[in-house]
Amino acid sequence: MRHPVGRNDHTCSSELVESFEEAGLGWFWATDAQGRLTYLSEGACGQLECGAGPAVGQQLSEIFVVDPEFERSGSEAHHRTLAFLMSSRVSITQLAVKCASVTKEISWEITGRPTFDRGGRFIGYRGSASDVTDARAREREAQRLSQFDALTGLANRDRFYERLGVTLTSFRNFKRSCSLMVVGLHRFKQVNEALGHQAGDEVLKHVATRLKQAVGGAGEIARLGGDEFLVMLPDIDDRGRLGDLAEEIIQLVSQPYSIEGARAIINLSVGIATAPYDGVDRAELLKATNIAFNASKGARARYRFYSSELQDQVGQRRQIEEDLRDAIATGIGLAMHYQPIVDARTHQLKCLEALMRWDDPERGEISPGLFIPIAEETGLIRQIGTWALEEACRQAQQWPGDLRVAINVSAIQFMDGKFVDTVETALRKSGIAPARVELEITESVFMADQAYTQRIFKALKSLGVRLALDDFGTGYSSLSYLSKAPFDKIKIDQSFVRGATEPGNNNAAIISSVVSLALALNMETVAEGVETQDELELVTGKGASHIQGRLFSFAVSQQELLDKIASGDLVYEPEGPARQRADRRSEYRRVGLVHDDHRYIVVLRNLSKTGALIEGLLDVPVGTEVVLDLGDGQLAVATVQRSSEFRQGVEFETPLISDGADGLCTRYRVSPYLIEAAGRPLAALPDDPYAALTGQDAAKAKLMRPKFFREVDRDSRRTHAA
Ligand code: C2E
Ligand code: CA
Ligand code: CA
Repeated sequence: MRHPVGRNDHTCSSELVESFEEAGLGWFWATDAQGRLTYLSEGACGQLECGAGPAVGQQLSEIFVVDPEFERSGSEAHHRTLAFLMSSRVSITQLAVKCASVTKEISWEITGRPTFDRGGRFIGYRGSASDVTDARAREREAQRLSQFDALTGLANRDRFYERLGVTLTSFRNFKRSCSLMVVGLHRFKQVNEALGHQAGDEVLKHVATRLKQAVGGAGEIARLGGDEFLVMLPDIDDRGRLGDLAEEIIQLVSQPYSIEGARAIINLSVGIATAPYDGVDRAELLKATNIAFNASKGARARYRFYSSELQDQVGQRRQIEEDLRDAIATGIGLAMHYQPIVDARTHQLKCLEALMRWDDPERGEISPGLFIPIAEETGLIRQIGTWALEEACRQAQQWPGDLRVAINVSAIQFMDGKFVDTVETALRKSGIAPARVELEITESVFMADQAYTQRIFKALKSLGVRLALDDFGTGYSSLSYLSKAPFDKIKIDQSFVRGATEPGNNNAAIISSVVSLALALNMETVAEGVETQDELELVTGKGASHIQGRLFSFAVSQQELLDKIASGDLVYEPEGPARQRADRRSEYRRVGLVHDDHRYIVVLRNLSKTGALIEGLLDVPVGTEVVLDLGDGQLAVATVQRSSEFRQGVEFETPLISDGADGLCTRYRVSPYLIEAAGRPLAALPDDPYAALTGQDAAKAKLMRPKFFREVDRDSRRTHAA
């Protein structure tokens, strides 16, 4: 018997469906005209019905929603709900949906088409489905891995750059600002080497956690691989707030880490730039932030804001490195100077700290605060450090036998395997008694492997030299170091001395506790950077045994010192102000002064948070309101408080804030959006934003007669008067 060709064998097709379903190749479903499920393969029911009622009878669109994360079947589909698609009676092809109700997320891909009866009436959907839950999870994980840093779980570079680009572009339209911070760990490589990579990874994880803690909801954080992190801070352009946040990050991250019984200490610094002030698009902003970060890597690393001045410093650093190589090779320009350290009670000279001076034939004096960090970064510190050690020992040998010399040792020198030999050679070559030599070491040497540090300490002690813990109180001080290492002396950092005399400051209490601990451990204490009478009174009152600072003397040349020694008088008189003045720094630079639509050039003579002294305008009446243009878009509204001839003291309406280094800056700057509104294309701040802002009024301003005479007009004033 032959089967009739083309006959639709019902039994045969349902068998096919069954075996298809059983093989797990897919499921089938059907709905009625209202979208209620009338059929669903058994396996599918089983998956859906854990907990929920029977699937058949429910609206398909109540069980599933379109999954926008994975929906790619049609450009429109993911904007639409499943109910909308089905009521429109369109065909559905591989639509990504997920189960909306069951606790465990279920992802399906469904395909279906509307069916009609002979009369053309819509009777529901017939379709197939497949379970893609596992595939989705894998896809999601792959996605996460490609966007996030596996170690810390923070966004990775790709994701962050993408987010930053999108944010900056959209913020531009709404005239919003966005700041960016680079947080960079210093010498992390050494932590890795000392503690091993696994421990290094642990430290990085902790760093990430602390960063998140400090940043909180204010921004997004990414790790750029290695030891650099980026923080995006939308809608923050107040540099006061940014500085506070940077401080907090530095504070938190630099606390010691304990990893597998070892301690690790991380030093870090932060570079900050703000869009659109320092850069409009992603590339510009990243560049500005990196320049600020490079500038933040000073000896006492903190944070830095981008400024156009720093841009020039990039080339300058390279030049310094080159010139320093020359200076080392030729020996020209490098010298050791010596700063007295006196007995706190008798003011008798006891010791001299050797401080390196570099007088470059072209550039003049370059501060060790600038070139020592460059020397450390480039490894040149080994050579100049050795030279400093030998030179200081040699010169100290010419002093009376009871005077000691204190020599600074960089952590990099200390880590160098040959350091003990270097010290031994310097002692031997100079012939100085080892007990007269003191090595000043900072806490950062404790970053290294404990066993190594202990071995070096022991070797140095057996040479007979003394050890001093330098800069105590900066960064990550821990009193526990003191009991572990054979120090003869602790140097209390000047940042602790400064401010200790202010009411409500707890530096004084910290000085007390350091001094009493030092006494208990039989160590001397030196208060560093004592500048005023009241600071001297305070630190002696707290029991410091020795004093160093400009109140007694700056560092002097060997010749000046030998002259002093020859005079036979080795007792120093404290000479200096009674107390610190309100943070006033002397300056000598030209700035703009705006008054009545006129922009004058004046000379800034000193600057404090609250005011400034300016020179160059004649007889400006007290009470006059002016705007000081401090450059880079920093306009400070000020009122003249004192005035005599060509000098005025002005007070700022809003106090300036720290720029993270030694300088001051304004909280806010002229917004590039404002310049844009004045008819220019949006760009980072130009060199002279004030001119850009008032460009259109320049012609008018020229017509008006300036109200104040300038110093350079002195002669024309005479003519006027005549
Ligand atoms: P430091 O070891 O903390 O040295 C003390 C610094 O404080 C010196 O700065 C000194 O001139 C300054 N100072 C002293 N008294 C006062 C004061 O009353 N007020 C203020 N504001 N400052 C005072 P200097 O000479 O600029 O050196 C800066 C840093 O450079 C030193 O800090 C030290 O870390 C490093 N350094 C200098 N010479 C050498 C060296 O030969 N080798 C190494 N490795 N580092 C050196
Ligand atoms: Ca020192
Ligand atoms: Ca010091």
